[in-house]
Amino acid sequence: MKKIGISGNRIFIKGFKRDYVLEHYAKCVERKGGVPIILPITSKKEVVEEYIKIIDALILTGGQDVDPNLYGEELYKESEEPSVERDQYDFMLIEAALKKGIPILGICRGMQILNVYLGGKLHQDIKYHSKTNLKHVQSSMYSDPVHSIKISKGSYLYEKLGEESRVNSIHHQCIKEVASSLNVVAVSIGDGIIEAYESKEGKILGVQWHPEMMCFHVDNDMSRIFDFLLEEK
Ligand code: MN
Repeated sequence: MKKIGISGNRIFIKGFKRDYVLEHYAKCVERKGGVPIILPITSKKEVVEEYIKIIDALILTGGQDVDPNLYGEELYKESEEPSVERDQYDFMLIEAALKKGIPILGICRGMQILNVYLGGKLHQDIKYHSKTNLKHVQSSMYSDPVHSIKISKGSYLYEKLGEESRVNSIHHQCIKEVASSLNVVAVSIGDGIIEAYESKEGKILGVQWHPEMMCFHVDNDMSRIFDFLLEEK
């Protein structure tokens, strides 16, 4: 069985910092026949390299805003205080995973930081992208789709979801410039916000929405995105 690494986050509750991921990611991996492995944040590069040795693919999970300093901007008031610890950790994971050449699935923050690592930039708030009327930070249940995306023909995502799909949306930032090694493969219908990219050689898929939440209770089309981690490439 393939082992799928899931990048950890860290939270302070009741006097202690705790390493965690949302249960959704592990469930989606398990459902597809993979073995989910949570990878706790570390500042040690050699530990990260050992993590990558034991996994066959990597999920970069959602979470905090990426430090704008990493793409050459000062912090705007709309950005959260950066988590330097987590940003540095994710950068090390990405570096080691790219070196090994394993599939990487970036989800929300994961998609954003992977773009930044590869040389792209973010908008610190969607209002800098456009005066969109679409609600990209939904208040309904996170499993509910709230806006539509248009998917490019010929992409991996197109094979899995077809030309149009409905997605959930829990992001207040978005991609400003996509890295040169990535192809945009889905945009939000109505405002053109980048909702997915793939790398040219096919080992990277990034999605701005949260498929793991959409298919958590019901196994629907969105669980197909996790095939990306387990299929031979
Ligand atoms: Mn969205």
